[in-house]
Amino acid sequence: MTGRFSESTIPCIEAGKSLLNGTPKEYTMICLGIESTAHTFGAGICDDRGRMLANRRDTYKPKKGWGIVPMDARKHHEDVADKVLDGALEEAGKALDDIGILAFSRGPGLPPCLYAGLNFSVGLAKKLKKPLFGVNHCVAHIEIGRLTTKLKDPVTLYVSGANTQVIAHTGGRYRIFGETQDIGIGNALDKFGREADLSFPYGPEIEKRASGGRWLGMPYVVKGMDLSFSGIITEATKKLNEGDKLKDVCYSLQESMFAMVTEVIERALAHTGKSEVLLTGGVAANKRLAEMVGIMCRERGAKSAVVPWEYSGDNGAMIAWAGVLAHRSGQKPLGLKKASVLPRWRTDEVETRWI
Ligand code: AMP
Ligand code: MG
Repeated sequence: MTGRFSESTIPCIEAGKSLLNGTPKEYTMICLGIESTAHTFGAGICDDRGRMLANRRDTYKPKKGWGIVPMDARKHHEDVADKVLDGALEEAGKALDDIGILAFSRGPGLPPCLYAGLNFSVGLAKKLKKPLFGVNHCVAHIEIGRLTTKLKDPVTLYVSGANTQVIAHTGGRYRIFGETQDIGIGNALDKFGREADLSFPYGPEIEKRASGGRWLGMPYVVKGMDLSFSGIITEATKKLNEGDKLKDVCYSLQESMFAMVTEVIERALAHTGKSEVLLTGGVAANKRLAEMVGIMCRERGAKSAVVPWEYSGDNGAMIAWAGVLAHRSGQKPLGLKKASVLPRWRTDEVETRWI
């Protein structure tokens, strides 16, 4: 146990109750989900009624001042995989033989990390002789959000380390209405955290430091429906080096970034006519972000909800649930001999026949 994000036991949602349509029913099958797109190796187990039975993970922690070194993260994932899986089975009170189907995060992500998940999942699927589904990591973040918040057809803000996208389901797919043109909000925050010599994980640390801060002025970059964050980080680092207080810089960069995404969500709501907003992904844990989006939604008569903390960052439970949805919708499992990863798989390329 090396820190808050390491080898954590994550509480189940409403143990014993299905969250699908609110109707507890006997399940017929359980799914094991494997997550490994970036820093986190996760194993989650859920049943086909949407009941979460286990969610275990172990997160690779880069050296101080460094970002993710993909090959080191891959080695981390390979080293912890068996232990994380055993933990998940124990938490669920299940044996390997109880698993009906398997799913893994096929992309998008860092190729070495994706291969760690692919190899582990294919090995297990062969051993158990069970079908394996390759699921889209971003869609899994949305679906665990819809399941746990009970929002039906939201505009989704998916904000994680690598991704920042405003998404809505139209014409049979999740469509991206706006996204970052450079780095994701989480990576931007992490980059500033390293520059400011804060400790990992940087996002929550910046959130803490921003409390009671003062507005210093910051770039605000919305281009059409797209966003850009790297200039804000350059400016924030410059202000810090010139002697501005850390709490004022943290406050100002959060205010600017979160106002930018709130503006784009508001326009996506207006365009689509939808009336719900879901916040999902690791950065969705930020209370100020939820507050800003909440205020905008109230002013428009829309509803907003945030994925519960235990399902906000990368996790195996969301992959298991996305696997159930893929299976239920009649998607074909992967052929194990030719199974591959899709490092650049976009949200709008995924067929979502379950909606
Ligand atoms: P994910 O890639 O979905 O696992 O999300 C990880 C990202 O979420 C990292 O970049 C973290 O810095 C960021 N993050 C986690 N908690 C918070 C928070 N409370 N505020 C802002 N960012 C956060
Ligand atoms: Mg993610």
